[in-house]
Order: sequence, then structure tokens, then C-alpha cells
Amino acid sequence: MQFRDLKKQYEVLKEDIDREIVEVIESSRFIGGPKVSELEKRLAEYVGVKHCITCGNGTDALLLALMAWGIGPGDAVFVPDFTFFSSGEVASTLGATPVFVDVIPETFNMDSDSLEKVVKKTLEDGKLTPKAVVAVDLFGLPADFPAIRAVADRYGLKVLEDGAQGFGGQIGDGRACSFGDIGTTSFFPAKPLGCYGDGGAVFTDDDDSAALIRSFCVHGKGEMKYDNVRIGMNSRLDSIQAGILIPKFEAFRKHEAADVNKAASQYTELLKDIVETPVVPDGFVSSWAQYTIRLNSEEERDALKIALQSREIPSMVYYPKAMHCQEAFDKESLGDGEFPVTDKLCKTVLSLPMHSYLTRDDVERVASAVREELSKLR
Ligand SMILES: *Cc1c(COP(=O)(O)O)cnc(C)c1O
Repeated sequence: MQFRDLKKQYEVLKEDIDREIVEVIESSRFIGGPKVSELEKRLAEYVGVKHCITCGNGTDALLLALMAWGIGPGDAVFVPDFTFFSSGEVASTLGATPVFVDVIPETFNMDSDSLEKVVKKTLEDGKLTPKAVVAVDLFGLPADFPAIRAVADRYGLKVLEDGAQGFGGQIGDGRACSFGDIGTTSFFPAKPLGCYGDGGAVFTDDDDSAALIRSFCVHGKGEMKYDNVRIGMNSRLDSIQAGILIPKFEAFRKHEAADVNKAASQYTELLKDIVETPVVPDGFVSSWAQYTIRLNSEEERDALKIALQSREIPSMVYYPKAMHCQEAFDKESLGDGEFPVTDKLCKTVLSLPMHSYLTRDDVERVASAVREELSKLR
């Protein structure tokens, strides 16, 4: 069994994907061109924003958003403590300081009460200027944007939605990547919408941010290519990846997003009485980048992982190490220094095989294995 079965997906979509790749090679348009514009148009329409700007990867997408806001030294950017490294790394890349905020145990996402506490503490300390909050849609579930936006508005913070894992999620009728002033995603192969290499995108309704980002991602270009008006970077989605994403996005939109939700409901049905299953609040829809259960202790989690492995069922620990424990960050990033929820999650979470091509039998096999092994362990 595969943790995320990209091969099965390719078998289903092979004809369309192969044709797209050949078309790009035959056209000799490897960078930019009609495939990239077509993809950007379709993604912007789906997300429900004016602008989609594709770029080299999800980390660059976050970086480009912070660059558009002029984030730099002396600025505080609030980031959940339980996330992938990139969410905080990009603030440091620009000389700003990521300041970590604890999360909610049931949803794994940023806790808006902790956010407010940490913003207040930062203001009291007086060393950094609060500028922005990066709210992550962890494991596919949109962060609590209504609550986070309320705090952000009280303190004049920009909201950046890190939707690297969240593409396809919803709050009401609104789609992930549309909830921030800027939203970003990643097309890393294992993400909800992945390509066959690196790729990313930035989404916004703001014309000025969009224009700046289009310039930043091509060396700070001005009116024409050899006119450089600001310092930027080179971050582009190549045309082959755009071609691959076009049929993959159609499959995602037509059935994959629904199929993965079916698998998640089956898991929850079969597991909810023995482990803590992930909670999707009313009105929210997840795109299930991960299906993550919580166990009673670190010993139990680690033993279950080994037992599943011996039955050839892969599982992963996302994430074993909190952001506040990463050596790369300074002590200014510690905020109020209190991360009890994240500390516990790092010891007790386990992500199970999850993707749109998982069958009912696969889910049952994993769930029975979890039940049997836990009954032995407890
Ligand atoms: C994967 C990921 C990123 C970075 O995306 P890349 O395309 O790998 O650069 C950023 N944030 C989160 C939450 C991620 O999971």
C-alpha cells in the first residue's frame, strides 16, 4: 500500500498527461506561454479571485507575498508553531522575525486566542513591529479565518493564507487560497493538487500586489524583460508542469476532491471510538492533504507506527518537531514561549495513507490494522 498513490493517479490520467507533455515539447515553449496562462486562468476562476500568479514552488509563493508587503528587518510575522518549516522560514529569509503561535488540538490550526496573546506580548516587548499573520491550512483544513481576520483587523495585520496543503478546501462557499489578503499554494507532487516536480502559485484580489508579484518573480522586471526596476528573483512554473497540472486539476475538480472526502469519512467512521480523529468544523471542507489521528502517548504512537510498518502499511509523523524547537530560529521567535498543544501533538500524531484513489477495502484494511494493533498495545 502507498501512503499517497501517485502512480495509480497517473495510470488513470496517463493519456491526457502524456499528450500535454508532448504538446509542450513539440511547441518548444518551455517557460511561460499558453499552458501557463491557461492554468492561471482556470485556477483563479476556481479559487474565486482576480489574480493567480504561478511560480517555482510553494515556499517562493509565500516569500513573494511577504515581498509584496515590504516585510523586512524589525517586522514580526505570526506563524503557527505546528506546520512545515517554510511557513516560518520565509519571514527569516527577508530578515523579519517569525513569531510562533500555538494551535487548536482538534483542527491542528492556529488558535486565534493564542494569536492575540502573542501579538499583545510582542507589542509590550516593543522590539518588533507586528505586520502580518501566516495562517496555514494544515493537512487540508482551512484555518479559522473569520476568527483570525478579526484579530488581524484589531492590530492592523495583513493575512497570508498558506494553502500549500489546503487547495480545494472550503469555508462555506469560499475556497481555500481566497481567505487571506494573499493566498498561496504548492504543487509539490504529494500536495492535494500536485505536479511532477516543483511548482507553486499566489492568489489575490489586489491588483497592486499582483503586479508587484509578477515583477518580483521575473527579476523585478519593469515594462519589458530587460528593464529591471526592483530586486526580485527567478521563480516560474515551467510549461511542462503547467501542462501536467491542467488535466490533474480537471480530475481534482471533477471527482478527486469528493473521493478523498469519502475516504476520510470512512476512516472517521471506523476509527472514531478508539483514537482521536481529525475534526472538520461545521461549514468547513478539508482537502485532506493528510488524515491525522492522535494517540494517547508518544510510546503508543511510535509502537503503532512500527506495528503498521510490519504489516506493510506506511504511516508518517507530521510533524515530529515544533517550529519553536527548530535551531534555525532566534529566541525572538518564541513569542510568549507557551506551546503546550503543539508539544503534545508532536508526540502523539500519526498520519495514515490518504489519497483520492484509496478504495473502501484499503481504508478498511488500515482501520482494522490500527484497531488490532492498538488492542494489543493497550
Ligand atoms: C509544502 C509546504 C510548503 C512549501 O511548499 P514547496 O512547494 O515545497 O516549497 C509551505 N507550507 C506548507 C504548510 C507546506 O506543507
